[in-house]
Amino acid sequence: MKSNNDVIIIGGGIIGLACAHYLIEKNVSVRIIEQDVIGSGASHGNCGLLYFSDVIPLCEPGAVRHEIYKTIRGTSSLYIKPRLDINLILWLLKFAGHCTQTHMNAGAAAKNEILRYSLSLFDTLFSQYTLDCDFEKKGTLILFKNKKHFKGYHTKNAFLEKYGFGATPLGRDEARKLEPAIHEEMAGAWYHKFIWHLRPDMLVDAWKNLLIKKGLIVEEKCKLTNFHIVQGKIKSVNTIKGQYKADTFILATGAWAPDMEKQLNLKIPVQPGKGYSITMERPDQSCDIPCYLYEKNIVVTPWKTGYRLGGTMEFSGFSDTLNKKRLARLISGAKQYLIPSTGDPVIEEWTGLRPMTHDDLPIIGRSPEQDNLFIATGHGMLGLTLATGTGKLVCDMICNGKAQIDPAPFSMNRF
Ligand SMILES: Cc1cc2nc3c(=O)[nH]c(=O)nc-3n(C[C@H](O)[C@H](O)[C@H](O)COP(=O)(O)OP(=O)(O)OC[C@H]3O[C@@H](n4cnc5c(N)ncnc54)[C@H](O)[C@@H]3O)c2cc1C
Repeated sequence: MKSNNDVIIIGGGIIGLACAHYLIEKNVSVRIIEQDVIGSGASHGNCGLLYFSDVIPLCEPGAVRHEIYKTIRGTSSLYIKPRLDINLILWLLKFAGHCTQTHMNAGAAAKNEILRYSLSLFDTLFSQYTLDCDFEKKGTLILFKNKKHFKGYHTKNAFLEKYGFGATPLGRDEARKLEPAIHEEMAGAWYHKFIWHLRPDMLVDAWKNLLIKKGLIVEEKCKLTNFHIVQGKIKSVNTIKGQYKADTFILATGAWAPDMEKQLNLKIPVQPGKGYSITMERPDQSCDIPCYLYEKNIVVTPWKTGYRLGGTMEFSGFSDTLNKKRLARLISGAKQYLIPSTGDPVIEEWTGLRPMTHDDLPIIGRSPEQDNLFIATGHGMLGLTLATGTGKLVCDMICNGKAQIDPAPFSMNRF
C-alpha cells in the first residue's frame, strides 16, 4: 500500500488538473493517477478556445433534423459508425429527446452559470500565475459563406444577448478589414468578444509543473484497474503500479469514465465523440483572430507558436485511428474561408475523444453510491472552457460541503 493522501484524482486531463489546483490552494494533499502521461487525452490537441459564450446546448430544437439534412447533402461533420451498440443507440435516442425548447432554456441557464464562473476563474488564474500557453483575449470570428446562414445567426444571437454574450455582425468588407486573411467570397462574420484562446498542450504542461512545485504528486503510466469499496466508501484504488489510499477520490477520466460504471454501480452516460486536429507551423500572414468556419464546423486557431485546424464529431467507439479523409476535410474546408489557410510543415495530426453526455451538460458532483467519490466528466466540446469552474466546484463540495454556483443541474441524480 502506497502512502496516504487526502485526495486521489483518477485522470490527468485538464479537468483532473483543475480539480488539483483548487484543492492544493486549500492545502489538501493530492495525487493524480494517469494511465498514460498527463494531458495525453482530449486535453492535448483540442482547438484551444475558451468558448464562454457557448450557452446553447448542442441538443437544441431542430438539431437532429438539421444534422440529417446536412448528412444527406454530404456537408455534415458528424459521422456515426453503423454498428449494434445498445449504449450508443440509447444515448442517441436520449439526445434526440433533449432537443426541446424546455431543455434548451434550462440547459442554457445552467451552462451560463458555469461558463461565467469559469471565465472569472480563468481571469484570476492568469492574473495570479504565469502559465506560458499563448493565452490571448482577441475574441473569435464566426465566418459564414452562405448569406442565409449569416442572417439566420441573428436568432441565435438574440438568445445569447439575453445572457450578455451577444456577438457583433460584420459585413464581408468590415470582417476583412478586421481580419485580412478572410476569403473574399465570405458572406460575413459575427465577432464574439468572449471566446478567448490558448494553446492547450502548453497550458497542461505549465499547469502541471506549477502544481508539482506546490506539492502535487503525479503517477503516470498508472492505470486504475479497480476500487476497493467497503460499505459504500472507497478505501483505496488498485492500479497497475500498486494500491493507493486516500480519504476522497475524484473520477476525472473523461471519455473513459463509463469503464468504471459496473464497479461503482453507477450510470455514467458518456459516449466518446471523436475529433481531429492538424497542427502546423503558423503561416505568414495567417489569421490573427481564431475563426470558426460555420458551415464546416471547423475551428482555426492561430498562436504565437503554431496554427491548428480542428473539428469533426465521430461516434465510432474508442478507436484512435487517424482517418485521413477527415483530416483532409479540415484542410479543404479551411481553404474555402481563409487565405492562407494552412501552414508548412505539419507538426502533428491528432485525434481525441470528447466525453459527450446526451443532454450536453457536464457531470459534476458526489457519487450517489459512494460517499467519498466525486465525478467530474462529460464536458463534451467545452472541457477546456469549463475546467476552472469544474475544479473549483468540486473543490468547494469536498472542502466546504457547498459551492458558489448551483451544482444541481450537473448532478448524477439527473440520470
Ligand atoms: C478536436 C477537438 C477540439 C476541441 N476543442 C475544444 C475547445 O476549443 N475548447 C474546449 O473547451 N474544449 C474543446 N474540446 C473538448 C475538450 O478537449 C475536452 O472536453 C476536455 O479535454 C476533456 O477533459 P478531461 O480532462 O475530462 O478528459 P481527458 O483530457 O481525456 O483526460 C482524461 C484522462 O483520464 C485518463 N484515464 C482514463 N482512464 C484511466 C484509468 N483507468 N486510469 C488512469 N487514468 C485514466 C486518460 O488517459 C486521460 O488522460 C475539443 C475536443 C476535441 C477532440
